Amino acid sequence: MRAIVTTPPERNSVQLMEVHKPEPKENEAVLKILKVGIDATDREINDGYSGVPPEGSPYLIIGHEAVGIVDEIGEKVKNVSVGDFVVPTVRRPCVQNCLNCRKGETDMCTTGDYLEHGILKLHGFASDYAVTGAGYLIKVPEEVKDEAVFLEPLSITEKGITQLLKIQERVVWKPEDVLVIGAGPLGLLATMVLRLKGFNVLNVSRNRVESTKAQIVRDVGGEYLDERENPLSTLGKKFDIIVEASGAASAALECCELLKSNGALCFLGLYREIQECDDFGKIFTNMVMGNKVSFGSVSSNKKHFEMGLKDLLEIKKKYPQVIGKLVSRELTPEKSSLAFKSDFEEIKTIINFQK
Ligand SMILES: [Zn+2]
Repeated sequence: MRAIVTTPPERNSVQLMEVHKPEPKENEAVLKILKVGIDATDREINDGYSGVPPEGSPYLIIGHEAVGIVDEIGEKVKNVSVGDFVVPTVRRPCVQNCLNCRKGETDMCTTGDYLEHGILKLHGFASDYAVTGAGYLIKVPEEVKDEAVFLEPLSITEKGITQLLKIQERVVWKPEDVLVIGAGPLGLLATMVLRLKGFNVLNVSRNRVESTKAQIVRDVGGEYLDERENPLSTLGKKFDIIVEASGAASAALECCELLKSNGALCFLGLYREIQECDDFGKIFTNMVMGNKVSFGSVSSNKKHFEMGLKDLLEIKKKYPQVIGKLVSRELTPEKSSLAFKSDFEEIKTIINFQK
């Protein structure tokens, strides 16, 4: 079968390779893969910054955003059947099986020794067939089989927003105004989920107001501004909720001062650059004096995928065309290396294994 593989930490090693079709152990399912989404993590793996092949394998099959059909199941599998449309979660429990992993909260693992399909010591889903524990599969209705490839990034935003609302049970609070920074897949999906919850959402990113990204924000009833014309410091208003999904350290620092009193800020980005700031004291004092909360959120567990599925069905009903607009291009596996040359206005590249 065909598989998209990398050999980290070698740079730019992505290639299509013929490998053996996997077989399921007693609690596993083999999926016939329909679509795989490519994201910044896949590009980082191909750039040699992250990614670890499974023990004993010279290569890592990439891909952690996927939808497939159950093709074969192990003898003990009861929760899915051959022919079901499914989306697999990504992270698996740590070797030590810590308290959080034991309770199904692998996203909150405390040891850091977890495994991740397509990223860390487990092959991913970018192949004609892939194998995983059947207990980590989310069944999806056939009507969303095309959109379900967005369930993984959607689960990341669901986790951040759910945790934010849970944290805010600390205070009597009636949030209305939300700022989302960044209009990549996470920023746009967060905008959609927050609009479903009825908030006024302003999305600010470095894209033209005529771009598809800006159009998607407006399609779901949000407001959009180009940060290059409207720097964060000039917005002239404050927000109850801020979701930082741009991954820019400068934006992350600046938005701390845009929270209303009692507000909450969720960081979803990975802030790689070393940012100098002389005024941490002012930022911390501002957080203290306003009883504000900021927190980081990464990964997701099965619960967040299930929340994502519920919202995906609602988004599709309320804004029928909008998920389709997230797809910038669909490539065949043979053309998949093109997915690693990202251009700025791209939202999501999908590898279609049925083409
Ligand atoms: Zn753990």
